Amino acid sequence: MSTHNHSNVSQGTSQRPAPSPDDVITITNLNKWYGDFHVLKDINLTVKKGERIVVCGPSGSGKSTMIRCINRLEEFQRGSLIVNSIEMIDDIKNIEAIRRDVGMVFQHFNLFPHLTILENLTLGPIWVQKKPKAEAEAMAMNYLERVKIAEQALKYPGQLSGGQQQRVAIARSLCMAPQIMLFDEPTSALDPEMVKEVLDVMVELADEGMTMICVTHEMGFAKKVADRVIFMDGGEIVEENTPVEFFERPETDRLQLFLSQVL
Ligand code: ADP
Ligand code: MG
Repeated sequence: MSTHNHSNVSQGTSQRPAPSPDDVITITNLNKWYGDFHVLKDINLTVKKGERIVVCGPSGSGKSTMIRCINRLEEFQRGSLIVNSIEMIDDIKNIEAIRRDVGMVFQHFNLFPHLTILENLTLGPIWVQKKPKAEAEAMAMNYLERVKIAEQALKYPGQLSGGQQQRVAIARSLCMAPQIMLFDEPTSALDPEMVKEVLDVMVELADEGMTMICVTHEMGFAKKVADRVIFMDGGEIVEENTPVEFFERPETDRLQLFLSQVL
């Protein structure tokens, strides 16, 4: 069947070692269908605290669907998904508990256009976490400084460049104090000159020890920060490896072909 590489991809529940307290995400035999279309096929993935995972693969291979399952933006039909010891089941308490731990940054920023940058950042802390406004604003300004955009706090998203908006989106996510950050092609909607400013923020976050899963085709970023790179094709994890092995010794024809197209 598969050409799964290395022991990190486990082949089924029976061979799976007991979960370690270091495992923050455990995905076991995850399957999802859109109607008749089998979009995720037996996905197995374990992510440890502080690990940086890069996911790549052709368009339509199921990358977004997989990471969106992790915070239940998508449902799945079979298999299991555990985040910080909480099992993703059909219970709003579990779903909310998982979402508290997981931040997400999308390709198209998804900022609220009618709110200022500062209001975008304080909305969740004030209304979801019930933080006092002054405290939420102080924290928001702190994160805006970290993504080097504090001077834009009172502007609206439409007044900012794409790169600036994406940095705001990252800061907004960090305001909710996530333990895990998911990035879904955060730079692919940006003009080329803005890609670096966003990747720099992501590299900083990685250096601070954030657990991250990043769907991206920025192979320089993958080489620099990833502990493991995962290649998806046709709804499967086809290959996964350390960046050096992944790029220098791709094992499957499918990955070799993909790399020849993106590199
Ligand atoms: P990727 O992020 O790797 O480009 P996606 O996870 O977005 O891939 O999509 C995987 C496949 O599932 C694609 O063939 C896509 O057309 C299909 N798909 C995605 N979302 C839906 C949906 N809501 N309904 C039906 N099919 C979908
Ligand atoms: Mg996608």
